[in-house]
Amino acid sequence: MQKSYVIGFPRIGEKRELKKVLEKYWSKQSDFNEVKYVARQLKRRHWNYQKQANISFISSNDFSLYDNVLDTTILLGAIPKRFEHLKDEELYFTMARGNDSCPAMEMTKWFNTNYHYIVPEISKNTTFKLNSKKIIEEYNEAKELGLKTKINLIGPITYLGLSKSIDNSDVFFQINNVVKIYKELLEEISKLDDEIIVQFDEPLFVKDIDTKVLSLIKPVYDELSNSISNIKVVVATYFEHSNEATKILVNTSIWALALDFIYGEKNLEVLEEINNSNKTLIAGVIDGRNIWKSDFKKKIDLLEKISSHINKDKLIVSTSCSLLHVPFSLKYEDNLAKEIKSWLAFACEKLNELSLVSKDFFDVDLNLEEISTIKRNLEDNIQRKTSSKIHNLEIQNEIKNLKLFERVDKFKERIKIQREFFNYDYLTTTTIGSFPQTPEIRENRKKFKENCISKEEYEKEIKKYIDDCISFQEEIGLDVLVHGEPERNDMVEYFGEMLDGFAFTQNAWVQSYGSRCVKPPLIYGDVNRANPMTVSWITYAQSKTSKVVKGMLTGPVTILNWSFVRDDIKRSEVAKQIALAIAKEVDDLQKAGIKMIQVDEAAFKEGYPLRVENIKTYEKWAVYNFKLSVSLAAIDTQIHTHMCYSEFNDIIKTIEEMDADVISIETARSGNRLLKIFKEVAYKQEVGPGIYDIHSPRIPSVDEMVKQIKALLEVLPKEQLWINPDCGLKTRKWPEVKQSLKNMVEAVNIIKNKFN
Ligand code: GLN
Ligand code: ZN
Repeated sequence: MQKSYVIGFPRIGEKRELKKVLEKYWSKQSDFNEVKYVARQLKRRHWNYQKQANISFISSNDFSLYDNVLDTTILLGAIPKRFEHLKDEELYFTMARGNDSCPAMEMTKWFNTNYHYIVPEISKNTTFKLNSKKIIEEYNEAKELGLKTKINLIGPITYLGLSKSIDNSDVFFQINNVVKIYKELLEEISKLDDEIIVQFDEPLFVKDIDTKVLSLIKPVYDELSNSISNIKVVVATYFEHSNEATKILVNTSIWALALDFIYGEKNLEVLEEINNSNKTLIAGVIDGRNIWKSDFKKKIDLLEKISSHINKDKLIVSTSCSLLHVPFSLKYEDNLAKEIKSWLAFACEKLNELSLVSKDFFDVDLNLEEISTIKRNLEDNIQRKTSSKIHNLEIQNEIKNLKLFERVDKFKERIKIQREFFNYDYLTTTTIGSFPQTPEIRENRKKFKENCISKEEYEKEIKKYIDDCISFQEEIGLDVLVHGEPERNDMVEYFGEMLDGFAFTQNAWVQSYGSRCVKPPLIYGDVNRANPMTVSWITYAQSKTSKVVKGMLTGPVTILNWSFVRDDIKRSEVAKQIALAIAKEVDDLQKAGIKMIQVDEAAFKEGYPLRVENIKTYEKWAVYNFKLSVSLAAIDTQIHTHMCYSEFNDIIKTIEEMDADVISIETARSGNRLLKIFKEVAYKQEVGPGIYDIHSPRIPSVDEMVKQIKALLEVLPKEQLWINPDCGLKTRKWPEVKQSLKNMVEAVNIIKNKFN
């Protein structure tokens, strides 16, 4: 018998149906029933795909309307006070998105992925109660379709470990209270069927957790797995090895461990312990983070290696993590080069890979079609290695012969000249780059792509948008302007489309947060910049104003971290090729008179390894490549960078080493708390901490922003501070943006008047 297991499945829908219905509902064009209807259809369809692929273990409760950590917060009844007056879906979406009177909860990246979860807020006084029927309902929904699912839950230790303490108490102080609710839930679950599998996701265990947290594992999992006889507990970890935890879990009464053997190779080191404990091992061998077709031979080799330690009857073959992190299906990719397409597998294709590898491994008789699929798989993998599409000798040589790796001038000298050159004083106002992507802009792009309008018509529209952006910014009195990025669908895709070595999909969307999806490019070959990518748009914008227009580029580390990257050479090598391309663009921009250039490294932190032992290596090549990408900037060219997060405590020295003249960051949701580290380390460069949260439609008042600026001034001197929103504005609507930015400039003027 084959035994295949899927950790979790994407939920946004193969045509982003969930996104569409949510956004319709939020803009009050539909009611919640429609959302529920679409959600039900999607779940049904996703279960069916897995069933058709013969997956033996399929999940329920991997679906969520916004985020499954938020679902867990609701489940546990851990509702922050400011939302207590709300109910049901209004409560749920307000926690996620905020409204006029209640700021949204913080959002942050899920481990080293680009998925964002809503951060639970916990205090000593948080009370918990079992507060949701979602899990039971979803289980029954599947059951009605004749499907017996395993139930996915976020494990209690990871849940608390990812939450933030709002009163400085230790969040784990609450562990018993949380476990108590989980036990109540398990009681409920146990009534659903004779035997039920519950998967607790505990990815926190792949980090270097301290002994205190480690000491919770045994009592918590004994408690959860001992008491109810018809529930089989799986503990799932992913993205890295979790050996410290595994060694403890083998001594609890859980049924199985799900481990990631793709990104956690070291999991191989504890197989004997697992075998001795008689636990079942759910072996993640199908990559849930990347999109390359599995090499079946390698998969079988890996499984054989594992089974040399673990009895085959205790083995189940699985995805390395939830398939949430890969796009849905290749079936809509009509435009991909056939050759490239033959190298790929998205979530649906991975289901088939998983089931086939599992069949092969468990010696199930294969039918002719399956045998030919395996044969084709091996051929495609050989073909990919040798394809001429992948290698560009010219670029390889250029990289070998690189002479300049960083800027020649030091910051101290640079900033003096720049301040004179640009003539700014303090609390300089700017934005992060993008302005709202309106339906018209999208329509224009779509028409152009579909050849319904000419290049001239397309560009005319873009220019019109830039004109409007520039005049709006001048009108409200911003200091440093941007062109608004109307020509960009996405900050990575845009660049990838102009670079050799990248391929693009039509529909390979991956959920980033809530209804937001990204469509990462595929880097399959050597990267080369054949032509300038942004110069004409930025210089056009500059020609419309006497104020400074800041050029906008995406940095090499971010392009890398937000792409699906080839796995045949090192990531650092791919980053170097991209850095070289960006360096050439920086140079072309400055030659064209654009002297302020922002190189966004929104995803710099995302690439951080989860294990401390691997951090130094990453930091070294990531900083190197950022510096390489701006190495050609002259002394009076001011390099900005932007990062989409707020926790800099661990990495502040590395950020400083990147040596950008100005960095804008995403601290708006956390007041000035997170800025303090910049002061503590006597950070030299200039900083724009982000004074309002753009992830919510809420318009911050002048007063509120005055307060926020004052709070920032308590930490850093005014000369070192820039004032800006905390990220790009492309996801917002014009009326919100206009009012918010007006308020922002007014707030700065109020503060400045006080100084004068
Ligand atoms: N310049 C980009 C924008 O404004 C930056 C976005 C980001 O960092 N995520 O959209
Ligand atoms: Zn950002």
